[in-house]
Parts: sequence; C-alpha cells; structure tokens
Amino acid sequence: MHYFEILSTDVHEEPIFKDLTMSKAALNIANIDLLAPRTELHDKLNLSGCEVSVNNMAPGAQSPFVHHHTDNEECYLVIKGDGKLFSDGEYLELKEGSVFRMSPSVKRAIKAGDNGLSFICIQAQENSLKAYTFSDGKLDNDVKPQW
Ligand code: ZN
Repeated sequence: MHYFEILSTDVHEEPIFKDLTMSKAALNIANIDLLAPRTELHDKLNLSGCEVSVNNMAPGAQSPFVHHHTDNEECYLVIKGDGKLFSDGEYLELKEGSVFRMSPSVKRAIKAGDNGLSFICIQAQENSLKAYTFSDGKLDNDVKPQW
C-alpha cells in the first residue's frame, strides 16, 4: 500500500503526489504544460542530482540576462524552432536538433529566431557523473511487466 501527499497542482490541475511510504519517494510524477514559457522540474519532481527546465521562447524573445554558473554544467536540447546562442562573446546558430553542453564559467544567453525556440536545459554539477546507462543500470530480468 502506498500513501501519497499532494505537493502541488499544475496548470492542468493534475495533482502532483509525493509517496510517503519511503523517506524519499521512489517515483515522482507530474504533468506540465509543455508550451508554458518556462517550467522548472526540480521542485515538481524533487530532483536531487540535476535541474531540468522546459523552455518556450516566443519569436524574437531573448534571455533577460547573460549568466554563468558556479558549479553546474548545462546541456541544452533544442526541440523546435531556431535562434542564436551567445557564448563568451561568440554567436552560434541554433536549430531543431541542436544539442550542446556548456561549462559552468561560460557566459551565455539565448535569443529566439523568427520561429520561436523550444528547448530543454539539464543542469548538473560538473564532473559529478560517476556512471551511466550500463555502468550504472542493472538488469532486472526477474521482473516482467504485464502490460
Ligand atoms: Zn543556467
């Protein structure tokens, strides 16, 4: 038996639950508006090792500031639209499918092009990744989902 606590609700009024049967929930799930200007998942999902944001910039919109980070690198994935990246004084073209990583110290800003720009940004402490995929994941062949 699992007991859940409602943490918050999103724009669709879907409840966001926290599983109280464990000190840290095994699963946090939320529904978000994928078209909202910016949604940060850290609080919605109780993320503990990274921050993920979903961003939608209107045509011609630009970051309100240039910024860099103290400890975190960022991985950006452009999923729709186009735009430009300002990176330490250089300008790079962005388009659907562009993916890039930035070291914490890079001074950055983004400007959407004529088609707007939708991207996901994943932020995690630089050099913190110790293992991934098959070096961290373990097969559970004894468990068979009954879809
Ligand atoms: Zn950032």
